[in-house]
Amino acid sequence: GPSYETIYRVTVAPVEGGSALCTFEDVTEQERAGLIRRDFVANVSHELRTPLTSLLGFIETLQGAARNDAAARERFLGIMAREAERMNRLVRDLLSLSRVEAEERVRPTTQVDISAIVRMAVQTLRPVADGRDIRLEVTGVADPVLIPADPDQMLQVFQNLVENALKYGGTGGLVEIDISLDDCKALRAPAVVLAVRDHGDGFDPIHIPRLTERFYRVDNHRSREMGGTGLGLAIVKHIVNRHRGRFRIESAKGKGSTFSVILPRD
Ligand code: ADP
Repeated sequence: GPSYETIYRVTVAPVEGGSALCTFEDVTEQERAGLIRRDFVANVSHELRTPLTSLLGFIETLQGAARNDAAARERFLGIMAREAERMNRLVRDLLSLSRVEAEERVRPTTQVDISAIVRMAVQTLRPVADGRDIRLEVTGVADPVLIPADPDQMLQVFQNLVENALKYGGTGGLVEIDISLDDCKALRAPAVVLAVRDHGDGFDPIHIPRLTERFYRVDNHRSREMGGTGLGLAIVKHIVNRHRGRFRIESAKGKGSTFSVILPRD
């Protein structure tokens, strides 16, 4: 990706007496925003074009060589359906991301029981866990924990995190979501910590700082195979920001990962 060194705009103006005034303006932020935007558009185009190219290829084959081959037709239609679903997920996540970004400055005010929301996310994903023989457990505080939050967005956060834990950390056989109360120093407020922990393969911590970037993946091939759009953690980060919270990632290769959401309680 692009590297972000300090970028200066330099202006030189003549001054009386034959000397010159030289001003340095730090334009790193503007340049950086522009780079990120251009990068994003290029990424989206690429991500959409890949399934689209495949779809067009299969359509052509179905109109030609495979026209009268029932078995091939069946197989190709299956692949086409998967590619169309991928595009559908991508568009859904892009819309989700842009909605979340647009609302980022509007603080949620409704009091919501975050522990109930975590349980709701778990309930939705229970069948997936069962199907893969993964134990899915909620531990820690069982009482209601009221915080100002957007319930739909919070549900999305925990669905994304648990879905990832099942997708990438499922080999460990156990996914836990721990709820605890804490005084968060960084937030200077009483907080609730919601930690989604898996015991799967984990990854090299070198990836952590970039993991919430759009389309950043540890293993591109694996993510695609699993139907990932590469936008899930970017969406999580924006929602957590909107709630004045913190998002922490820990991982160790071979030991599993923990994704923690820390939210202020006042
Ligand atoms: P994706 O749609 O690819 O899953 P995400 O933004 O949700 O996109 O996640 C980004 C990347 O982070 C994934 O592609 C994967 O490489 C890595 N990742 C996320 N959660 C986990 C996890 N629990 N264990 C290992 N890797 C993970």
